Amino acid sequence: MVRITDLRLPLAHPTDALRAAIAARLGVPETDVVSVKVFKRSVDARKPRALLFVYTVDCAVQGEAAVLRRLAADRRVGPSPDTDYRFVARAPEDYYASATASALPSLDAPLRPVIVGFGPCGIFCALVLAQMGLRPIVLERGKKVRERTQDTWGLWRRGVLDPESNVQFGEGGAGTFSDGKLWSQISDPRHLTRKVLTEFVKAGAPEEILFVQKPHIGTFRLVKVVENMRAEIDRLGGEIRFEQRVTDVRIEDGRMRGVVVASGDEIRADHVVLALGHSARDTFAVLHGRGVHMEAKPFAVGYRIEHPQSVIDRARFGPNAGNPLLGPADYRLVHHASNGRAVYSFCMCPGGTVVAATSEAGCVVTNGMSQYARKERNANAGIVVGIAPEDYAADPNAPGPVSPLDGIALQRRYEARAFELGGGDYAAPGQLVGDFLAGRPSRAFGDVLPSYTPGVRPADFDERDARGNASLPDYAIAAIREALPAFERQIARFAMHDAVLTGVETRTSSPLRMPRGLDYQSVNVRGLYPAGEGAGYAGGIMSAGVDGIEVAEAVGRGMLGASPGATG
Ligand SMILES: Cc1cc2nc3c(=O)[nH]c(=O)nc-3n(C[C@H](O)[C@H](O)[C@H](O)COP(=O)(O)OP(=O)(O)OC[C@H]3O[C@@H](n4cnc5c(N)ncnc54)[C@H](O)[C@@H]3O)c2cc1C
Repeated sequence: MVRITDLRLPLAHPTDALRAAIAARLGVPETDVVSVKVFKRSVDARKPRALLFVYTVDCAVQGEAAVLRRLAADRRVGPSPDTDYRFVARAPEDYYASATASALPSLDAPLRPVIVGFGPCGIFCALVLAQMGLRPIVLERGKKVRERTQDTWGLWRRGVLDPESNVQFGEGGAGTFSDGKLWSQISDPRHLTRKVLTEFVKAGAPEEILFVQKPHIGTFRLVKVVENMRAEIDRLGGEIRFEQRVTDVRIEDGRMRGVVVASGDEIRADHVVLALGHSARDTFAVLHGRGVHMEAKPFAVGYRIEHPQSVIDRARFGPNAGNPLLGPADYRLVHHASNGRAVYSFCMCPGGTVVAATSEAGCVVTNGMSQYARKERNANAGIVVGIAPEDYAADPNAPGPVSPLDGIALQRRYEARAFELGGGDYAAPGQLVGDFLAGRPSRAFGDVLPSYTPGVRPADFDERDARGNASLPDYAIAAIREALPAFERQIARFAMHDAVLTGVETRTSSPLRMPRGLDYQSVNVRGLYPAGEGAGYAGGIMSAGVDGIEVAEAVGRGMLGASPGATG
């Protein structure tokens, strides 16, 4: 196959224009182009009046070797890379060619691998281990995704939180009620992102995620995809146990020997993957208490901002705003504030809603989600400020001696403050951008209606409690105040008076990291594999899935005795 990059065509091109462009690039008659597969399609929106689709394609062409030789100097033409996934240590046919779990070969290793957490990292780790025939056991504290959906609505519709079944906890992990954005900037020499996308498509995600520039699945479809992936893991001999919160770990002589669940039952295991996500605060405390090495890491705090989607579409696409070929526009913004802080947009959700994302009682946390169609009226994004361990220690209300858990203490403080400012019933505090910039309280909302449920109360983000806490640390508020007008220079009307800020966005990534070695095991506990976002090794669905695959391979190597690095 021949890979051709950078084929540019106008937005409304006829279907056969692509084949004609390929033939022209290769200098062959169109009839020589046997087949065409779009590998990637992106939009060049730099000139709103002349938007272009930019294609990367793989095609079969007559006399391929001669064509490649003739065009050897053209960087945009070359042999298609091999993006197929290859299993670690042994060929997958050895393991899972047979359709039923009972037909799987018995294992040499006495103990099955255990994965804690069934978010994207745990799902892909379990899937790949199951595909290798290693029959993982997954322990997930939350419920199956349909029951979990009901509990999540309990908070969104009635203001009733279930601390074990919510936006953060349960089948599918934190990404289930999300926009399902599937892009990431991780370096990917082994094309593992392709493995993630391919498995999602096999499980029912739309095929277009394989080639559009910024693929997304949307919440409702993700629910079905997650269920299908669970069924596949089951079929391959894996096992997923719900409502099984891990409450302790058994470590003997620096080696992992098992985990304990809330019922008191113990599961023996020599290989345990911790795919906990960033909100497992109780579990982090237990691991810290047991001496698992961890350290505080930077993350970001801020607010969610909402605009009419039409405002963003006009700013980004000009006269093409509303063109169904383009869909609703997104943005990505960064501002370096004069107090040294970086302010940036985070997890932008076109045509979506702001959601209540706490997993802890007495806290308010925001995030964003969309359905596949992205048809809601408002666009939303986090506007967040980077903070670092020095900030946790310097905070006037810091709890005491410096600890890896200090970032959690800071998150909790501002989440509890948002709960108070919202009125104490899980409504969130909100402020008009115009009022926020002018430093005065909001009394009512205007043209932009906030979408967060169970409700948003007009508030003053500068108002302090008895301990002097405003809605966020002062430096963060100052940096966001400076950034919004700067963002308006990139997106017209970004700082419009009626745009709404809803507080607070604190769960942007894990506030701690559990360092691991090149073998993916904890630096001080053998057989313990910290993984995914909670351990500081991922920052979204895609990167968590890829990390899950890599960790599964490391576990596979450990269990099958393959030499490190053997992936062929
Ligand atoms: C509302 C929302 C929208 C988002 N939108 C996007 C998006 O569009 N695109 C994107 O890339 N990312 C998005 N994210 C971020 C993304 O969801 C996470 O980066 C990703 O889910 C991390 O995957 P993970 O598997 O590492 O952890 P998680 O998904 O957090 O999964 C961890 C799992 O571990 C379980 N667990 C925790 N502690 C225990 C324990 N003690 N015992 C047993 N189980 C335990 C939890 O219940 C959870 O299911 C969004 C997040 C949220 C909250």
